[in-house]
Amino acid sequence: MKIVPAEEFELTREVDYGTAEQNDVVKSIIAAVRSEGDAALRRLSKEFDGVDLHELRVDEAEIEAAYDRVDAEFLKALRQAAANIRAFHEKQKRVSWMDLQDNGSLLGQIIRPLQRVGLYVPGGKAAYPSSVLMNAIPAVVAGVPEIVMVTPPATAGEEGINPHILVAAAEAGVREIYRVGGAQAVAALAYGTDTIRAVDKIVGPGNIYVALAKRAVFGVVDIDMIAGPTDIVVLADESADPEYIAADLLAQAEHDELSPAILVTPSRELAERVRGEVERQLQALPRKAIAEMSTANKGAIVLVGDLDEGIRVVNAIAPEHAELLVDDPFAVLPRIENAGAIFLGAYSPEPVGDYFAGPNHVLPTNGTARFSSPLNVDDFIKKSSVISYSKEALLANGEQIMTLARNEGLEGHARAIQVRLQKEGNFHG
Ligand code: NAD
Repeated sequence: MKIVPAEEFELTREVDYGTAEQNDVVKSIIAAVRSEGDAALRRLSKEFDGVDLHELRVDEAEIEAAYDRVDAEFLKALRQAAANIRAFHEKQKRVSWMDLQDNGSLLGQIIRPLQRVGLYVPGGKAAYPSSVLMNAIPAVVAGVPEIVMVTPPATAGEEGINPHILVAAAEAGVREIYRVGGAQAVAALAYGTDTIRAVDKIVGPGNIYVALAKRAVFGVVDIDMIAGPTDIVVLADESADPEYIAADLLAQAEHDELSPAILVTPSRELAERVRGEVERQLQALPRKAIAEMSTANKGAIVLVGDLDEGIRVVNAIAPEHAELLVDDPFAVLPRIENAGAIFLGAYSPEPVGDYFAGPNHVLPTNGTARFSSPLNVDDFIKKSSVISYSKEALLANGEQIMTLARNEGLEGHARAIQVRLQKEGNFHG
């Protein structure tokens, strides 16, 4: 990993809008699903996944059978993680409110869950049960009554779905599962087919075809986000253990070749030691090839003058994950303004949050922590405003409303007020 002084450090953001060809492919897949429905899903699954689909929906027996194919330790850990995630998200729930005013009018806000949500779970190469929990549980806690999952058939020629994915879905409370992936699955969720009814929102990660399809259907349905490569920034001082830092940077770097793993430190000695540790630990990492590429291309150790400058660098990067491995992390915490998740102290490495502690691991990437938040219960609710003016309130305020309406040239608006004021004998115009 290269050591660079803060003034020379520049982070390039990665936003993948796909090639013209990929965009064309996605457009034609969406058009095919809209016009041919299930028939298009079968044809495209054959073409892209090499699978002859019979039943699109995974039946209950297959979900139950999946439990026999996962081991007991996995199930125990998954259940504990699910309980922690549920407990954390319960705290995010909002309540409806009504405010009765002195003049007898009532204003309020009603919170309702979305009716139907679709969860995309990537296939083969990146089957992450933890992502199933992280995407599904906030929707469950929000009270979404219908949560459906789509995922590509696992391997060419077979219809089996990774049993860990099925068990994670069932544990989260999702039992409507379809074996279809890619842009065709996103199109089916957005527009509906005979078998898959349309949803109100699509969440979950996927490859470029999935991401482009989500972009394309946004507006017909809501989407969560288009995630970029995952990233981490570790802010550390001389009190930190270089072995821990190196391990945490590599945990991020092993995701993919574009994942930035960055150390920010005022200590040159720590910088040198972490660089050595990264090299040493890399040699024994099963995903060495990926981690080596990402540390070489996107990784950096940024040398800052002092902790204050380090904090400024962290805020400028707006990392998805920020680890504070400094002497007094709670003193630094209030000054970290842009970060998806903040991990404090030596015993809170990122995987604690990735899998287990409870906060969501679906986080803003690519610097979007400047303006967006982790996936949360609010992503699965909608709000309706409630307005009930009393006669007294309308008579008292009607003329002001008419003034504003006429200022905008909307006479019809003004008259909707005026007709009431006239009838109630309170119109002086
Ligand atoms: P995927 O489910 O995203 O995509 C597989 C589908 O892509 C196939 O079913 C097929 O329909 C479609 N497809 C493949 N080649 C195509 C082509 N040439 N034309 C049209 N459609 C085609 O699974 P994947 O490909 O293994 O990718 C998983 C992705 O999800 C990776 O990019 C990974 O980084 C990402 N991921 C991200 C997170 C996260 O938290 N950000 C988590 C897990 C996975």
